[in-house]
Amino acid sequence: MIAVFAIDALEYELVEEFKCENLRQKFRGKTDISEFSQPRTMVLWSSFITGKNKEKEVLAGGNKEMWDKKWPIGETFFSRFKNPVVIDLPGYSYDTKVHAESRRLLKEFFEARPEEEKEKIRSPYNRDAFEHHRKIKEEFFRALGQDHDFVLGYFSVADVVGHLNFGNKAMMRMIYKELDEIAAEIKGKCEKLLILSDHGMQAVGQFGDHSNYGFWSANFEVSFKNPKITEIGRLLK
Ligand SMILES: [Zn+2]
Repeated sequence: MIAVFAIDALEYELVEEFKCENLRQKFRGKTDISEFSQPRTMVLWSSFITGKNKEKEVLAGGNKEMWDKKWPIGETFFSRFKNPVVIDLPGYSYDTKVHAESRRLLKEFFEARPEEEKEKIRSPYNRDAFEHHRKIKEEFFRALGQDHDFVLGYFSVADVVGHLNFGNKAMMRMIYKELDEIAAEIKGKCEKLLILSDHGMQAVGQFGDHSNYGFWSANFEVSFKNPKITEIGRLLK
């Protein structure tokens, strides 16, 4: 079985700083996403699964339609597998309702006045992200225990919580520890493990914004160091 631990906004430099040994794996590096005008989640995952730069097509639908975008399996590298399962991935099997709610709360946070009102939004926003994380984690490990030749699970907690709390080192350390523990647990359950992020994150005061490269690591030897995100899928077999 090939497993892909897909993590939104996993920051290469924080993986190093927090010494997340299981996320780091033997082979690792940053991805090159410089061909894209901005590091956008939906654009990057769409480009990863189709092996093509999908920026124009994804943005053509406008902001609302962008998040509903779903590529047919025939246009993705998943079609090479007999019995693939892909959990909650943007552009493919994304739970649009859950993620729309977290984007709504984020917007509400930034628009809230006075400042005290913001703090009332922070905890439901974080709680929502952790609850969804637990649900996806359960589904992912269930799939890893079944008879699939390919399992991908997409985890958004580092991005969602990071946007409001990236300056909170203790909270980010806790999230990276959780992700590192998941990576450790996956390892015994598959032959090949790829860990991939769409982009990383950089601090903007107490908040976080997307950084201009992604993260990858593998427990098997690959021929690249700083691959384009469109080059990675075809190597998985
Ligand atoms: Zn984000």
